[in-house]
Amino acid sequence: MAKAQASETSSISRLDQVKISQYFGCNTFSERTMRERLQKDVYKAYRQALKRGEALSPEVAKSVALAMKEWALEQGCTHFTHWFLPMTGATAEKHDAFITWDEPGQVIERFSGSQLIQGEPDASSFPSGGLRATFEARGYTAWDPASPAFLMEGPLGKTLCIPTAFVGYHGEALDHKVPLLRSMEVVSRRAVEGLAHFGVKAEAVIAQCGPEQEYFAVDLDLAQQRPDLMFANRTLQGAKPPKGQELEDHYFGSIKERVLGFMQEVELECFKLGIPAKTRHNEVAPNQFEIAPIYEAANIASDHNQLLMELLKSVGERHGLAILLHEKPFAGVNGSGKHVNWSLATDEGHNLLEPGKTPEENLQFLYFLSATLKAIHTHGGLLRAAIASAGNDHRLGANEAPPAIMSAFLGAQLSHILNAIEKGDAADASTQRILDLGIGNLPRIEKDATDRNRTSPFAFTGNKFEFRAVGSSQPIALSLTVINAAVAEALDDLNGKLDAEIKAGKDHRAAVLTVVRQAIIETKAIRFEGNGYAEEWKVEAERRGLPHAKDTVAALHIWENPASKAVFSKPGILSEGELESRVHIRHEQYQKAIAIETQVLREMAETQILPSITADLGARAKSLGRLAAAGITVPETLKAALQAQATLAGEAQARLTAMKVALAAAEAIEDNHARTEAFGKKVNEAKHALREVLDHLEEACDADLWPLPKYWQLLSPL
Ligand code: ADP
Ligand code: MG
Repeated sequence: MAKAQASETSSISRLDQVKISQYFGCNTFSERTMRERLQKDVYKAYRQALKRGEALSPEVAKSVALAMKEWALEQGCTHFTHWFLPMTGATAEKHDAFITWDEPGQVIERFSGSQLIQGEPDASSFPSGGLRATFEARGYTAWDPASPAFLMEGPLGKTLCIPTAFVGYHGEALDHKVPLLRSMEVVSRRAVEGLAHFGVKAEAVIAQCGPEQEYFAVDLDLAQQRPDLMFANRTLQGAKPPKGQELEDHYFGSIKERVLGFMQEVELECFKLGIPAKTRHNEVAPNQFEIAPIYEAANIASDHNQLLMELLKSVGERHGLAILLHEKPFAGVNGSGKHVNWSLATDEGHNLLEPGKTPEENLQFLYFLSATLKAIHTHGGLLRAAIASAGNDHRLGANEAPPAIMSAFLGAQLSHILNAIEKGDAADASTQRILDLGIGNLPRIEKDATDRNRTSPFAFTGNKFEFRAVGSSQPIALSLTVINAAVAEALDDLNGKLDAEIKAGKDHRAAVLTVVRQAIIETKAIRFEGNGYAEEWKVEAERRGLPHAKDTVAALHIWENPASKAVFSKPGILSEGELESRVHIRHEQYQKAIAIETQVLREMAETQILPSITADLGARAKSLGRLAAAGITVPETLKAALQAQATLAGEAQARLTAMKVALAAAEAIEDNHARTEAFGKKVNEAKHALREVLDHLEEACDADLWPLPKYWQLLSPL
């Protein structure tokens, strides 16, 4: 993009001011900008390092840094920051001005190659799960050249954000990005090896992802009156509204102007940042919405999803909206998830999960399909563990999101073909017969034919798999890392078997079919086409021996299985130490989430709700007394209602005390697993018990005295 044009486009304030294609990515130091601004040999060296996954040489880094600084200053940037994804799941940044001393009292703008490549944030306060002792608290952030630097606009100026990986003193991964990049590398290598068996020479295979992001929008003024929404991102108390989502009239409904204005501004910001926002619509629950981008390489999709979550929140505030990314903001109302669409494609863009036109292409398709099935069959438990969190516990298995049992849905067409292969005897010359069964010219799997089963956690949707159990607030990096790692392991296994079959003298087709058929038979247990919400499925899944970790407490154990450790450590995606640290952090985050909820609920009950109830009771009693004084008979039913409310308030007080006791008991536990269990069982139960009574109290309390905005207010059309 020409320089003049770049600064013009970054001042765009309407979606339709100029064509999207003209300003898309104008706030990024994109490949195109680099190509225009870097010397030819520098650009070539940069591209080569990128392709090979190597570090930039100091000279190349210096030139890139200089060009990046000039570009950033032209755009009005004053500061730069290394932007990274610590294991908290949020993003982190520490800003530095571009200035340095020139002569006494005089500063100049400077940004060196080493500042571009490496930063040293004081990392001691980020969770490391014990990986990094405090005496060597240093962590390094290192630029990920595959992810373009971008500008963040603040009220008074712009900041250059450099996406980085975050590693410890000894190179240990301290973030979600490093393992994702490693897993992409490994799955690429295995897929390239697999493709070679089909005579396809690919330099690399790229894991691709398109995450569909769900969220709620609530009026900010109302949200700010609720400590639970402010501190825990979900309501911890709230009686059901007279009208919930029963009518389901919100889904795909017309988007109201206030929300549309917000969505358009989010999209505008996305386009400037090179995030390919594509789809917007109303979701099932009132005030629930979705935004989905066009798919990209998994690492970029992950960065973009993190940025998108930040944008949703900050743009929301500008529009007087609180954007809730929590998995379950409102009890009794559908929660929010994130559908992580995943596929593999060659560097030339050929999708390996797309059925082809020739029998050979279809054999290859079936090969990669069965590898994916094998991955889910072997590591379904791990996939479930990757999405376990306090928030997601409210959705999974609650008939609004897929169950916590991992199964794969293929649709009638593909299931039919796989069943035919299973029955056919590929060991003899019947290859042709199997091909005649329909593999020879597999029809393009129509999306409509596969997409109907919304109850499946891992569904094939024509040319990709859709992992539907991810929570709306979760970083997608971890889920993607698990999928890549598991598929890489399965491919490694299939590649080895295929090798052996061919060495044993089988012709190529027969060999592939033998291996595919074996995988189909082996993985049959995870294929499920029925209703994942049904009780019978739980029974059936147990009969099939599928793991079923009902909640986070159970799921956290899966990380410690030898098979779980090996799928990461063998190919070098996460060492045992790195994995251990992550498990530790997951425990910690789970405990913290529940502890915060408990504290906030205590505060609300003790300082807002119970005083209001007492005031209400007092006022009503006074009114009844006045009636009696005026010689009016006070009906017994009125007295009884008041008595019942007083008794309930007493019960609330007792349950509040019990909740405090449970919290203190959990916090006193040293052992990590036992502590997690105490939070997940005892503390959660105490919290639920208190909420139940508070909700009943709300239903009878004088609305003028009730201290919190109610569900119907929060969920009224915006
Ligand atoms: P839906 O699942 O709601 O029917 P789509 O199938 O159109 O919607 O797409 C959902 C998401 O899947 C989008 O983000 C889209 O870019 C992404 N997607 C489409 N094809 C692929 C693919 N081959 N690999 C990964 N993601 C993909
Ligand atoms: Mg979808």
